[in-house]
Amino acid sequence: MKENFFDRSIDELAGILGDLDQTPYRLDQVLNWAYVRTVPDFSGMTNLSADLREKLSDILDLDPLTLVDRKRSRDGIEKLLLSLGDGELLETVLIQEKGYMTQCLSTQAGCGMGCTFCESARDGLSRDLTRGEILAQVATASRVLGNRRRLRNLVFMGMGEPLKNLDEVVPSLEIILDSRGFDFSPRRVTVSTCGWVPGIKRLSDEGLGVNLAISLNAGDDGTRSEIMPVNRKYPIKNLIKAAREYPLSNRQRITFEYVLIDGLNDSDDDAMKVAGLLKGIPCKVNLIPCNETSADYMPSPEARSTAFQKVLLDSGILATVRSSRGSEIGAACGQLRASSK
Ligand code: SF4
Repeated sequence: MKENFFDRSIDELAGILGDLDQTPYRLDQVLNWAYVRTVPDFSGMTNLSADLREKLSDILDLDPLTLVDRKRSRDGIEKLLLSLGDGELLETVLIQEKGYMTQCLSTQAGCGMGCTFCESARDGLSRDLTRGEILAQVATASRVLGNRRRLRNLVFMGMGEPLKNLDEVVPSLEIILDSRGFDFSPRRVTVSTCGWVPGIKRLSDEGLGVNLAISLNAGDDGTRSEIMPVNRKYPIKNLIKAAREYPLSNRQRITFEYVLIDGLNDSDDDAMKVAGLLKGIPCKVNLIPCNETSADYMPSPEARSTAFQKVLLDSGILATVRSSRGSEIGAACGQLRASSK
């Protein structure tokens, strides 16, 4: 079976090419075709000899993910359901905003973190994705869009907890940021976590400069542990400490995601607690009325969301209410995969 091209580091590709063809610039040419032009097979690499193209296509696969389903919502959200080599499914979402695209990447098939408001948690974790499976999502989306440059932002917010799969996520980030790879600015890349504290520390140490988003969702340990089991192991105090220690450059902020669930975490009192926790952290809060998934949760009414936001703003914390887009195609994480299963 052929190997996923994107599982190979740039140094490993240099080694493979060196064994097959000694011509200078071959590596740069292949990287350009794969990461900038995102061709789906080696036959498209027209400045390589036919012999080399054939040899490469015998061992490496530039298109390892099969597009199984594609849905587009009226409000500009496109969701791709992709099949992996072993039949596992993953999903990636494209979000259109003012002429540019943000892609939401998955890092695991399923998720073992058990957040009660999330569809990805329903069947637990199937397996981690490899670095190549993470990177191939970017290549596939670039092909669907016709051009890699149409992708402006990448967010690691799809299925799975990225910080539980850092051995694969970090090498994928290195290629995403490498000027010979997908060449994204670190400012355009965000890694999101449910609060896996040792992972935040390791990501800090990697010094990649990417943005950090934390899914907070409660202002006290009782409520947070009820909806996010990770909180029993790493309570809010530890999480906020790790967030305070995350290295930020000028004007960079940590994003706190807060899913508003009617009657559960959306009172003014909850907002006051959140404001107290985040005091002094360069941050912004995204308030997201929850999707109606299979759990027994309802989104907070608009007036409640606005009142929650006002408490934060009055406390000097930047806060926006984000609309829950793409609901008719199941664009919340895990929904398309869950319905397909
Ligand atoms: S919200 Fe994220 S971490 Fe929690 S279960 Fe869903 S995918 Fe996993």
